[in-house]
Amino acid sequence: MDGIVRKRDTGEAGNGGEFGTVARRDADIEVDPRADEHGDVDAGLVELFGFDVRRADPVEFDEHAAAAGKMLAKAQSRLRGRLDALHRSVGDQRSPRTGWGRTDEQVLTAAREWVTLADGDAASQQTGERIRGPLRDVETAQTVHDQAREQVDGLDEAFRIRGGWNRAFLVANTNGHVHSSMGCSTCRPTTQYAWLTDYSGADEDAIVAAAGHRACTTCYPSAPVGDAASLPTRMFTPDELAAQREREERAAWAALSPAEKRARKRAEKLAKAVSKTGKPLRFEEDLGDAGKVREVISTERDAELAWERGHGDAINLRRTSGETLPEFADYRRDQEARAAWRARMRPVIARTLAEKHGTTAIEQKRRLDELTSAYYAEKHPQLAEQFVPDDDEAYLER
Ligand SMILES: [Zn+2]
Repeated sequence: MDGIVRKRDTGEAGNGGEFGTVARRDADIEVDPRADEHGDVDAGLVELFGFDVRRADPVEFDEHAAAAGKMLAKAQSRLRGRLDALHRSVGDQRSPRTGWGRTDEQVLTAAREWVTLADGDAASQQTGERIRGPLRDVETAQTVHDQAREQVDGLDEAFRIRGGWNRAFLVANTNGHVHSSMGCSTCRPTTQYAWLTDYSGADEDAIVAAAGHRACTTCYPSAPVGDAASLPTRMFTPDELAAQREREERAAWAALSPAEKRARKRAEKLAKAVSKTGKPLRFEEDLGDAGKVREVISTERDAELAWERGHGDAINLRRTSGETLPEFADYRRDQEARAAWRARMRPVIARTLAEKHGTTAIEQKRRLDELTSAYYAEKHPQLAEQFVPDDDEAYLER
């Protein structure tokens, strides 16, 4: 069942869209470099790819191609996730050994039938409602995926029409080799590569010299045979570079005197602190029947979380307003008292941050509101509309 996404990846000829949901246009793109008289073609290509595919130098071209490849990989994994959710919503079972019981096509066909035939009895109507959302999610993910695929295919085509150039791909694991393409016969379809676009268009001698012992002798027949000592490499994966940076940072830290280390730690702590002096904000109140409440905000991150939590309480109250049963009236009153307490904290937080950063409280308030709004949009989209920022009045300087 996972054959669907992968089939495309093997470079098989395009078909009418993976599930026929979106008819895929063939890559009929004019990338002939001699067609200079067609200015409109150029404009269309720039719009389609976001850069001049016909004249960009190999490094710039491949940076775009690498970015397009990453987008496609992301779109593929998102589509896979949405398809899995659809399988679950129609009641399909997944076995650890053999995967889903039904193919993606079977599940899509079934889901579409449910949704269109759901005007029958109540039970089928309910199922139709349950499936509609996941089905729409799959279709959206499919569209995004097909657009990403179109970019990657179009850039492959442009690369071929321009006559191509040398490229270097480093297998992203320890002691991985450098290959001239992602289709090297010594690699597997699942091999992960780091595309070293800095070397795009370089001549083979330069690539082989930089790759050292890592050069694949199938891709670069001229590469000499050696090891890390006799043929050191200058090509590293992002992970290796990150590990190298970390080693350097550790060494630099170890070289500091105890006093310097203390000063550095203090500076780091101060940078994260909620206040200019590093002192935490303490909120403590006795809310009577609602009990004693206490919150300590030490860092800017604490402040952001307190902002989110406070608005979360307000959202919950807003959602359930008018629904309270008489026996829960006390409970609701306590909730309201706590939400009001959190609302009183917010201007203090905004003013403290403003003092630290030399801005105004209203600016801090808007920034925190934006973070909170983004948090709800991402984590709890069904509640996002219920988020209501405070009035600006309480945040104006007096
Ligand atoms: Zn190779």
